[in-house]
Amino acid sequence: MAQAFFGGIHPNDMKAATNKKPIEKLPPPARVVIPMSMHIGAPCKPCVKKGDQVTVGQMVGEAAAFVSAPVHASISGTVVAVEPRIHFNGLPVMSVVIENDFNDTPCPEAVPPENPDSLTVEQLTDIVRKSGIVGMGGATFPTSVKISSGLGKVDTVIINGSECEPYITSDHRYMLEYPEEIIGGVKLLAKIFGVDKVHIAVEANKQNAADLLRLKVEEEKAPAVVDVLHCRYPQGAEKQLCQSITGRQVPPGGLPAAIGCAVFNVVTTAAIYRAVYLGKPVTHRVVTVSGSGVNEPKNLLCPIGTPIRELLDACGGVKKETFKIMMGGPMMGHVQYDMEAPIGKGTNAILAFAGDEERTEEYPACIRCGKCVSVCPMHLQPVFMYQYERAGKLEELEKANVLDCIECGACTYICPGRLHLVQTFRTGKQKIMNARAAAKAAAEAAAKAAEAK
Ligand code: SF4
Ligand code: SF4
Repeated sequence: MAQAFFGGIHPNDMKAATNKKPIEKLPPPARVVIPMSMHIGAPCKPCVKKGDQVTVGQMVGEAAAFVSAPVHASISGTVVAVEPRIHFNGLPVMSVVIENDFNDTPCPEAVPPENPDSLTVEQLTDIVRKSGIVGMGGATFPTSVKISSGLGKVDTVIINGSECEPYITSDHRYMLEYPEEIIGGVKLLAKIFGVDKVHIAVEANKQNAADLLRLKVEEEKAPAVVDVLHCRYPQGAEKQLCQSITGRQVPPGGLPAAIGCAVFNVVTTAAIYRAVYLGKPVTHRVVTVSGSGVNEPKNLLCPIGTPIRELLDACGGVKKETFKIMMGGPMMGHVQYDMEAPIGKGTNAILAFAGDEERTEEYPACIRCGKCVSVCPMHLQPVFMYQYERAGKLEELEKANVLDCIECGACTYICPGRLHLVQTFRTGKQKIMNARAAAKAAAEAAAKAAEAK
């Protein structure tokens, strides 16, 4: 059995509403809004203009930097606008709007190479880059960058099928319905990193998926082993998963590659297979639509760029008592205010809440119980970090390693005083980054002034 990581919590997984529901295809949307930023890194540059005809899989936004990922049309039709549109981050973001011709015409260039088995590591990485693959468990870091920065350093490849956040079942269903794609991706990652055994990590509440993947590993004689992990949130966070599988701990400020690990989500792994063997870039993804406010919870296969409203409509709409709609899970997701915002490559869930889940306090107060410290998987001290941020003590906040906070929300979940801990840390981290950027700009300006003299 795998090792444990420090801290963590055991929330009710709330997955029963959708974990037995097969993936359904969303009825084709009339329009999609494809944002140029759905990944960590530089936003893409649109490479189509109003009036252009596009096909499914055609590139509509090109990567503008090394840390970026191109974006592709998810439907065929006419580009009706290239302009800023509301994004799931709540702000307008440059987007390509496509009106559907309902022909689903595939891009003639989206074809696989002639002999995929003979590709070199460089060629495989290039296909991953051109296919716009990013961490599809929600992290959205460009996969080609993760691969190229890990080459020569990584001895352990981990496929993340833990899906530890409550309600979300999109990865679970993908493992049950497309195991061959995942195993195909596992073989490619083993080849890329030159390892003879890839770890596929699945939490125990998805035992049927673990059993099926084990069977496929045997059938395919794939270089892989399936590790079943005890359920504990945030097991799916990559640093915690590395510790669960290898016992190694990522140092503060470090990445998994620093301890010889590379972690890929199961759907990302399948996307690598689809890109290499089918020639398909990332155009669709499975989204779990669930929560007490949803009339008919489902797992839906959706074109990227579909407005949230269409997903909710396909699930019988929301109940009138619904008070909150989120993109992502209840622990790490973001509240959505505009149902026209599109789903992105990292959108694994849309949740609506209508019950008594809201546990806000008008006057949140710390009772110094220390529970937040005991559950923090990053060994941080949320109680003190909260006080520093509230008092504007950014230097102390930085020294308390707030930048190592993975925003898992475990402290907020456990806090009996109902303090908005994770929200405060998000703000605090942003303030520190802003202060760093301002200091860098001031130093550069001073250096230029000195040079001019
Ligand atoms: S869990 Fe909440 S109440 Fe308890 S010490 Fe931490 S911040 Fe204070
Ligand atoms: S949100 Fe940050 S501080 Fe809170 S438990 Fe998670 S890692 Fe620790």
